[in-house]
Parts: sequence; structure tokens; C-alpha cells
Amino acid sequence: RRGLLYGSAGAAAVSLAGCGVGGEDAPQLTGFTGISMPTDTSERWVIEGRALEENLKGLGYDVIHQNAKDVVEDQIAQIQSMVEEGVEFLVIAAIDNKSLGQVLADAKDRGVTVIAYDRLILETPDVDYYASFNNYQVGVLQATHIIDRLGMRENPGPFNVELFSGDPGDNNSQYFFLGGLDTLESFIYNGTVVIPSGQTEQDPTSTQGWSGDVAKERMEALLDEFYSDDLRLHAVLSPYDGISRGVVAALAENDYEPGSDDFPVVTGQDAEAASVKAIKDGTGQTETVFKDTRLLASTVTEMVQAIVEGGEPKVNDLGTYDNGFKFVPSLLLDPVDVTAENYVEVIVESEYLTEEQIDAGE
Ligand code: BGC
Repeated sequence: RRGLLYGSAGAAAVSLAGCGVGGEDAPQLTGFTGISMPTDTSERWVIEGRALEENLKGLGYDVIHQNAKDVVEDQIAQIQSMVEEGVEFLVIAAIDNKSLGQVLADAKDRGVTVIAYDRLILETPDVDYYASFNNYQVGVLQATHIIDRLGMRENPGPFNVELFSGDPGDNNSQYFFLGGLDTLESFIYNGTVVIPSGQTEQDPTSTQGWSGDVAKERMEALLDEFYSDDLRLHAVLSPYDGISRGVVAALAENDYEPGSDDFPVVTGQDAEAASVKAIKDGTGQTETVFKDTRLLASTVTEMVQAIVEGGEPKVNDLGTYDNGFKFVPSLLLDPVDVTAENYVEVIVESEYLTEEQIDAGE
């Protein structure tokens, strides 16, 4: 419907076609892209959806941008209608990484290029590229924060720690969790770290929908069952700021005073304003992992642009992300550890959040 004739990058595409890229009869691409975001309850996806849309429109490409708000069926239907509208590219952050096989098969039949955005899409051959952060490293940073903050290399504790993992339908969850667990492993073996609940598998530790409320409930249950005045909790490995705030709320209601010296060390991810505020003020979690999502959005924009212009997108990893069918060529960016010591430099000076936005975070 939107034709395949016009595109800001037309000249480049034509000259490359002349060099044999894409072949004589390859239709010229216009950059028409469908963006499918998973949820609007976590800040990053809303910001990134908008950034992607602006970037792509800035190149003169048409865009359909939708957010499926945590409903898997809606995401499938939205992508289906993007395909029917004639998009040439799909940029998808999946809610459930195993639910998109059929709709992506349809997309492939129509020659659509599929980029898995931040979250790998599994069990389908029809994913062309993956752009994300080094997800394993996220877990390494979180666990390292706990080790450093409690001084575990000098002090053998023992320290009581509980583990939380993310949504089981999100492929990233296992990488965050593995990175964390591998990093804590030697401390678990030598007895410095004790996990009183014994819950060290992804299943019992998982947090449906990345929900803070679900995490709060589980933390409360853990405190009830495994902790007492004589057995205090020292740290919680939490994979995401929303989960961390749920954990902190449960602790605060159960005799742990936020800001006090013996408040457990709680990690996080995404540098959400409310969490950076807690880190800054010392009133809750003490760490978050910042992933510069502006960079991810611009990286993915460049991927689309490269293909429109007849070239190949840049990738830097060919052998990590196996989606069950193949290793998906990936472009992985670096996550950054954020604490009270460096939040100004990393978050404020990079203009990701202003001090005012942090102070207003709740
Ligand atoms: C993302 C994280 C985010 C989580 C919850 C994951 O797929 O990689 O950055 O914290 O989803 O939205």
C-alpha cells in the first residue's frame, strides 16, 4: 500500500544495486517499519518506542508504532496488522519470546526483515538480527555489587542472600540470573553466602510480568518462612528496578528500616527515576544497572538504515544467542553499574535523567 518506490536513501540503494547488492530485481526499500513494544508499565519501553519512531521518521521512513501493554495476544494481532499494512521491517521487543512463530512466518513470506529488540525471539527461524546489551554482564554487575558492598572478599560472613529472577517468558531473564549466580557461586561454595530459602533455580525465583507486586509478595513469604530476629537478611539479587522496589517495600513492612546500616543490599536494573532516587538518597536499593537505551534505539535505527541503503547492519556477536533454530547475529552494547558514587556522572551528566526528574521519581 505504501509503495516501494520512495525512500530517503534511494540513491544509495540504486548505486549499490548496480554493484550487485540485492540483485537487479530487488525491490527498493523505503524503510517502512513496524515497532512493537511490550509494556508501558516500565519507563524504558515507552521512551525507546518513541525514540525509535522519531529516529526512523527523521530518516523519512514511515512507521507504525504500537505498545501491546503486556497482552501477548494483542502483540501478535498488532504485528499481524503491521505485516498486512506492508511493513518492510519489524522491530519487536517480545512479551513472550515463544509466541511469535506464526506471525513471523507470515512476515517472512512477505520478505520482512525482523529485528529482535532487546529480547531475543525464540523457536523461529524468522529472526534476522538481535540488538541488545550484554545480558549476562548485567547479572555479573549486580552480584559484584553485593560482593563488594558486603565486603565478602575480606569478611566471610556468612551472609544471607535471596535471589530473584525476571519474567520466565523473557529470554533475558536466564542471562541476568546466570550472570548473577555464576558470580556468587564461589562464595556459595565456600559458605560466605547462604541462601536460607534454598531457592536457587530460575523457576521458584521468577517474577511473572516483571511485577513489583509479585516480587513484594514473594519477599514477604520468604521473610515469613525463613527469617526471624535471629536470622536476618543481608542482600537480595534483584534483576530489575520495579522488582527491587517491591522487595524494598516488603522489607520496609517487615522490620528492616530503609536507610539504616543493616538494611539489605538490593540491586536493580534500568535506572528508573524512582530507583535512582532511592540510590541517591540512600533509602532503598543501592545499585542499578544502566543500559543506555538511547544508544540501543539509535543502533537499531542504523541497522534498518544500513539495509535500506543496500548494505549489511553492523553486528559484534555471532555465537552467543541461539534461539533454538540458529545463532542470531547480534549487536550487544555494554551495561554500566550505577551507585550513589557515580550516578551523577553516568545518569545526570549523560542527560539520561535530570536531578529534578530523579528527585521527583516515586
Ligand atoms: C530488559 C530489562 C528490563 C526488563 C523488564 C528485560 O527484557 O532487558 O532491561 O528491566 O525486561 O522490563
